[in-house]
Formats: sequence, C-alpha cells, structure tokens
Amino acid sequence: MPIAVKKLGENLQRVQEGIAGACAKNRRDVSSVTLVAVTKTADLEDIKNAVELGITELGESRVQHLCDRSQEITDWLGRRRKESPAVHWHMIGHLQRNKVKQALAATSLVHSVDSLRLAEEIDARGAQTNQVVDVLLQVNCSQEEQKFGVAVGASSHLAEQMCTLKNLRLLGLMTMAPLSQNLDQARAAFARLREVFEEMRGERIGGKNFRHLSMGMSHDYTIAIEEGATLIRVGSAIFS
Ligand SMILES: *Cc1c(COP(=O)(O)O)cnc(C)c1O
Repeated sequence: MPIAVKKLGENLQRVQEGIAGACAKNRRDVSSVTLVAVTKTADLEDIKNAVELGITELGESRVQHLCDRSQEITDWLGRRRKESPAVHWHMIGHLQRNKVKQALAATSLVHSVDSLRLAEEIDARGAQTNQVVDVLLQVNCSQEEQKFGVAVGASSHLAEQMCTLKNLRLLGLMTMAPLSQNLDQARAAFARLREVFEEMRGERIGGKNFRHLSMGMSHDYTIAIEEGATLIRVGSAIFS
C-alpha cells in the first residue's frame, strides 16, 4: 500500500529538518550532505511521489529491484509531460560478481565494494562499456562480525589496489553501523570510518575524487552527519 503523499511529504520534511539541524550543530553547509532515499520497502507509487517532491538520489540494496525500479521510473519520467529531473540510483547492498553487469547498467554509484575480485569485475565491465564506474569501499567498522565490508586493517591496501584500476573511480568509503541500534556504538563506527578516511587522505589515496563518507540510516543519520557523513541512506524514516 502506498503511503499518502501528505505523509510522505511530512516524512521528507522531518528528515530534511534533521539534516539541517545536524549540519547547523556542526557548522556544516546542508549542501555537503546528500540524502539517498532507500526504496527497498517502498511502493513504486511512493518512489514516484518522492521524485515529485524533489528526491533525485534513490538507493536499492538488491540488484533485481534496482534494475526493475530504475527502469520503471525512467519510463514514467519519459511519459510525464514535464521536464524530468535527473534521477540517480545507488547500489547500496552486497553485490555479487555475477550481477555486476546488470547492476552497472542501472547505477551511478556502487556503495558496497568490499573485495578486490569484485572491484576487478567492475573494472572489467567498465572497460567493456567504456565507462569509469564510481564506487565506494565498504569497511566493517563495528566490533561485531559483519557479513560484508573489508576489515579496517585491510582497507588501506585494498583502496590502493582499487585506485590502480583504470575503469573504476574510488570516491570514498561506506560503512554500516552495528545491527544493535545502540547509538553510541553507531557513533563509534562512524567516527572510526572517518579516521580511516582521514588516514587514507593523508596517504593521498584516491586523490581529489576521494571525498565521500556514506554512513547513517533512519535512526542514526544525524549522528552520522555529526561524524562527517556526506551521503546518508535513509529508508524507513521516509517510506513508512
Ligand atoms: C535498508 C538499508 C538502508 C536504509 O535503512 P533504514 O533503516 O530503512 O533507513 C541503508 N543502507 C543499507 C545498506 C540498507 O540495506
């Protein structure tokens, strides 16, 4: 069931106020934070309404959803008799190598690269289609076992290797907070990612392109912004 446009508008406004508040607290410009609206639980109708309300960055965690929905939204934008906003899709979930080709056809930024083999597969596909693919390196910054994300200790070496791939452009880092929803633990993970990021910058990894920190979801995005997030991935706070 789609949610009422009014409710969706209120949700978006609340999130935008949250972003503004966290930015003000940390003397950051609101334009330094990009909201990626995560549509994995949303109805197609909700996504269209969000786009009408000004959302341009959309995120999906599964390749099939990413492809289906981006196609449907593109078709819908084409049918509207209005000027179309430029809508971008972010691949935020775990990506299997055999789905790279499909995913790259639909995405503008892959947040979840966490192995050299995956990076090489993306690079090879980029070479075939003559494109340079923007990616983030997913780092596991929480103390707990997580299924995905490279360990902090191995992240700098992997980032360096990724930077040697010609059809890949490393724009920054991504992390998931621990599942516990404990906000202190979330803050610790975000602060850790920021440290890793600063260390890599100190080593000049990624050069000028290296500028993004993708961290923070519905319950902790203000904390993530306080810790330096430039991309926040918010789903349920918008679409429920
Ligand atoms: C689902 C998801 C989100 C959004 O989570 P919410 O708690 O609904 O905001 C963000 N990032 C990733 C990787 C996700 O899978």
